[in-house]
Amino acid sequence: MNHAHSQALFARAQARIPGGVNSPVRAFRGVGGDPVFFREGAGAWLTDVDGNRYVDLVGSWGPLILGHAYPPIIDAAIEAAKRGTTFGAPTAAEVEFAELICATMPAVEMVRLVSSGTEATVAAVRVARGFTGRDFILKFEGCFHGAGDPFLVKAGSGVETLGLPDSPGVPQALAKLTLTAPFNDLAAVERIFAEKGQEIACAIIEPVVGNMGVLVPKPGYLEGLQALCQKHGVLFVMDEVMTGFRLARGGAQELYGLKPDLTTMAKVIGGGMPLGAYGGRRDIMSKVAPAGPVYQSGTLSGNPVAVAAGMACLKALAAPGTYKRLEEVSRLLADGLAAEAKSAEVPVTINRVGSMLTVFFTSEPVYDYTSAKKADTARFGRFFHAMLNEGVYLPPSQFEAAFVSLAIGEPEVAHVLAAARKAFRSLGK
Ligand code: PLP
Repeated sequence: MNHAHSQALFARAQARIPGGVNSPVRAFRGVGGDPVFFREGAGAWLTDVDGNRYVDLVGSWGPLILGHAYPPIIDAAIEAAKRGTTFGAPTAAEVEFAELICATMPAVEMVRLVSSGTEATVAAVRVARGFTGRDFILKFEGCFHGAGDPFLVKAGSGVETLGLPDSPGVPQALAKLTLTAPFNDLAAVERIFAEKGQEIACAIIEPVVGNMGVLVPKPGYLEGLQALCQKHGVLFVMDEVMTGFRLARGGAQELYGLKPDLTTMAKVIGGGMPLGAYGGRRDIMSKVAPAGPVYQSGTLSGNPVAVAAGMACLKALAAPGTYKRLEEVSRLLADGLAAEAKSAEVPVTINRVGSMLTVFFTSEPVYDYTSAKKADTARFGRFFHAMLNEGVYLPPSQFEAAFVSLAIGEPEVAHVLAAARKAFRSLGK
């Protein structure tokens, strides 16, 4: 595969953009080599600037559940843009969108729109602190909630790939307010709450983790965590930026039958446009300005083009059978990858929930940060490049989720599995 144009662009980019990219994990530091620059996407396929084509298993890190350039989303965004790209004033579409979100996620009684997942999680923590009058928060090792200061403590995703568990620039005094516990370990939470429960505003969690690769919550874990939160007056915040509208229309909370106090959303909800949201219990959300004293705002919040795209996306996902189809194709893919790894005698552990999956290069079960770190990242890097060369775009890090889209059908699954057959075999035993 020729990447001459990508390489030339990357050389130029590095002169003007830190690391040549506008978000760290795009730079391929987790797998080595230079990033691919893309020209266009259509359905399940991406085309790079050198004309190479790939089946896309990244989907822009989650938003593109319907594939690239899904016509109803594009049409809705164009129509909205023609009427004006931003007003900085209320619109009817925002009201309809808020009503749709609340109807889809019953735990969300009121919702505020923002422009990214990070904005949503930062605001949710501020509201939790404002509501409870407590300063500490609890997060889980390897979970990533965006690049907000409170979260860059034992964060996964790009922070993990770059080996920067704590980022310079986050004041120690602030980092100290973020307590961490291992994922899937209720006893650890009990110990922390016994000592400090009265000072903790909220526990924020990725209900199914995507940012250490995919980790599946053990049966009863999320329910147990919520019960402990209730016992100690700690707000239970489900970060559904990845899982919302993806694992089920009502997100992980629908899948596991949970009712969090607050929920954060982004990615799928914006249909590929910059849009996020946070919402939850009416008594808590009533504290948000101007209804209440907790300040949060945004010039482009509720942007009409983003809302139109998001609305078209959520409406398309309401079609009967959508999530069943997504589950079936994702299972086909995961089972096929497992079979190819086995026949090449490459030990892997594949974690999957719905359309989120990770092939970990380890034979051991992966259920928390420590077990995820045992994966052979060098081997993953070789697998990633072999797949890329065969026309499959995987997330360029062992510690990220691959996302399956509804645009992926049997021909694409066959293409990925044929690529995987060669890629696994190229690794040697
Ligand atoms: N929360 C989770 C679970 C995420 O996966 C991410 C991003 O990957 C974020 C929050 C931050 O979202 P954004 O990148 O839109 O700021």
